[in-house]
Amino acid sequence: MHLRKRILVTGGAGFLGSHLCERLLQLGYDVLCVDNFYTGTKRNIVHLLGDPFFELYRHDITFPLFVEVDQIYNLACPASPVHYQNDPVQTTKVCVHGSINMLGLAKRLKCAILQASTSEVYGDPDVHPQPETYRGNVNPIGPRSCYDEGKRCAETLFFDYRRQHNLEIKVARIFNTYGPRMHPNDGRVVSNFIIQALRNKPITVYGDGSQTRSFCYVDDMIEGLIRFMNTPDDVTGPMNLGNPDGFTILELAELVRDITGSASEIRFEPLPADDPVRRRPDISRARNILGWEPKVGLREGLSKTIDYFDDFLRTNGMLQARLAI
Ligand code: NAD
Ligand code: UDP
Repeated sequence: MHLRKRILVTGGAGFLGSHLCERLLQLGYDVLCVDNFYTGTKRNIVHLLGDPFFELYRHDITFPLFVEVDQIYNLACPASPVHYQNDPVQTTKVCVHGSINMLGLAKRLKCAILQASTSEVYGDPDVHPQPETYRGNVNPIGPRSCYDEGKRCAETLFFDYRRQHNLEIKVARIFNTYGPRMHPNDGRVVSNFIIQALRNKPITVYGDGSQTRSFCYVDDMIEGLIRFMNTPDDVTGPMNLGNPDGFTILELAELVRDITGSASEIRFEPLPADDPVRRRPDISRARNILGWEPKVGLREGLSKTIDYFDDFLRTNGMLQARLAI
């Protein structure tokens, strides 16, 4: 007989996963972190290894997994364009085969399962901001499709398991999230700009920088995911989670330069293929159902993230030399 709820976090050694594991342990859960370290690292969770209620298991979720748990957060999947385009077939596999395996596990255990879906399911949206009812504008054959369509198919699987097997599902559509432990070399805009600014290198703005994004600080996102997981059975989502404040990429570059006091110039570079022009969540559903909205503003969140990367670059001299940016 176990008293603590046992929680499986796939992708638990990644950026979001490591924060989720940490928070779940603080809340008194027993956490099983499953990761194949494709983009995650032991460094992200090394501080948790001494906790007797934390367990780490190296495993690729495209293969079946047999464990006993009470809830599953399915986060395993490379998340940045650079990483998910590195091996696009594996990206679709982890979304589809990985979801089938984790849904099969949830079905056997009759437990709730939360899927880390993404705002990318909206593609390059022509409705703005995006409510969950918007069906998206996704290119099925472009360089981002392995991820966008993989995540869309995963959503289909989740809702079919709901209809067919009455599984308790929670589909969260996560919008751009940032914070400490973002991978320093994954090409995402916040980490790129911060590292470039801290090293006084040019800040690379793709296109003219007028494309917009909304940036959610990691602590807010983790709070939203945990609240969503613990809603009644009939709350399935999809549920947008993200910060509703929109910024242009150029504004972000200027803010990072301002906070770091960097001497970096801003350098304009070509826009990648299928780069969405604008993206911002309508979070009315999360506000109403979860009573949730982000609390950390961009300046405050960036300052914490900058402190993290400043420390990271100081203590990882070798790694710094290998950074491509
Ligand atoms: P991340 O790359 O830091 O974490 C993903 C983790 O999954 C890594 O630890 C990686 O090693 C692991 N992983 C990948 N393939 C695996 C496999 N086959 N088996 C087991 N583990 C595997 O990315 P993140 O930013 O923490 O994203 C976590 C989840 O949230 C992803 O599913 C991502 O699609 C989703 N998401 C993130 C964002 C964001 O802004 N960070 C936005 C939308 C959606
Ligand atoms: N971007 C940029 N410079 C960079 C990295 C990204 O201008 O060094 C832009 C990118 O073209 C996109 C936005 O920042 O318009 C967000 O990119 P990211 O890869 O972080 O996430 P996306 O929202 O595209 O998945």
